Amino acid sequence: MARMNRQILLKSRPPGEPTADNFELVETELPSPADGEVLVRGIYLSLDPYMRGRMREGKSYVPPTELGAVMPGAVLGEVTESRDDGFRPGDIVEVYQGWQEYAASPAAQLRRVDTTAAPLPAALGVLGMPGFTAYFGLLEVGACKEGDTVLVSAASGAVGSAVGQIARIKGGRAVGIAGGAEKCAYVRDALGFDACIDYKSDDLDEAIARDCPDGVDVYFDNVGGKTLDAALRHINDKARIVICGMISEYNLEAPELAPRPTRALLVHKARMEGFIIFEYADRIPEALAALTGWVQSGDLKSRESIADGIENAPAAFIGLLKGQNFGKQLVRLGPEPG
Ligand code: NDP
Repeated sequence: MARMNRQILLKSRPPGEPTADNFELVETELPSPADGEVLVRGIYLSLDPYMRGRMREGKSYVPPTELGAVMPGAVLGEVTESRDDGFRPGDIVEVYQGWQEYAASPAAQLRRVDTTAAPLPAALGVLGMPGFTAYFGLLEVGACKEGDTVLVSAASGAVGSAVGQIARIKGGRAVGIAGGAEKCAYVRDALGFDACIDYKSDDLDEAIARDCPDGVDVYFDNVGGKTLDAALRHINDKARIVICGMISEYNLEAPELAPRPTRALLVHKARMEGFIIFEYADRIPEALAALTGWVQSGDLKSRESIADGIENAPAAFIGLLKGQNFGKQLVRLGPEPG
């Protein structure tokens, strides 16, 4: 029997929190690569908060996913067939082929992965897009320097965990905000942050004042909402507020209309700036070299939550938006080679 491909399609747009009904699992024939294309067998699929934005209709920094189309996403996979001179069967690559087990993609869209740098899942996490986001967001947008107090939300996650550790590598003080005692213990004890605030049980204002006694120089925001408001109340003069994400607001149909304490920006002559990692596409080699060095020296640690099988991708994604992941959320699509 011919080998089949399994895909997850966007079936409908969620009005609030996504549910399993918004997705559809289908089987299709295995694609054949055309000239200049490469067939890739997926090993790990990356699940990322931005995918919630693609499920929504309306204008954003990229167009929404069409109904009936494969859910978008980055995959780490193995080349199984190549019609391009640059790739051979067995090569390990990253490709934006979406929630599916196989896809044929133009060779130009593949990123070759150094399999000796770290275990394979790292290529979608600390040595992939989330790591690059932490690196440029903190060092370029946040202009983090020695002695800074860096406060970061979603601190146990893919981006946040790297932000705090890079802050420490650069001689800063890292304070995380995460949900629950177990995540906070990991952030402090395993990742070496100076402190971690449990936003589910601590009073945010009291805890930020306690753990950032000299105020906040860089707030790296991954969650938006009330956490951003609280952080703004503790910034120092010339603070940098890095707007990386706002996951607490992704399932809202309309933005919350709370009065934001942006007066703090005026009083403290502070800067708040959003960024999208695409802006740094031509500087990825620089970030990858630095991050790889820190991973190999043991200064930069990471962990993953790995769901098994493409059929479990929707549940894992729904869990990610509720904080059920612990570290970078992946889905195992197939076995690692060898
Ligand atoms: P994570 O691995 O951090 O997973 C998401 C985490 O967000 C959850 O584990 C949960 O942690 C936290 N969370 C979920 N819901 C809420 C809520 N209502 N309030 C507070 N925290 C919540 O994801 P990533 O590291 O991949 O992404 C982190 C952020 O960075 C996201 O906002 C994402 O959109 C953004 N991003 C932006 C990029 C850019 O180019 N600007 C690129 C990549 C990511 P907890 O249990 O601690 O609440």
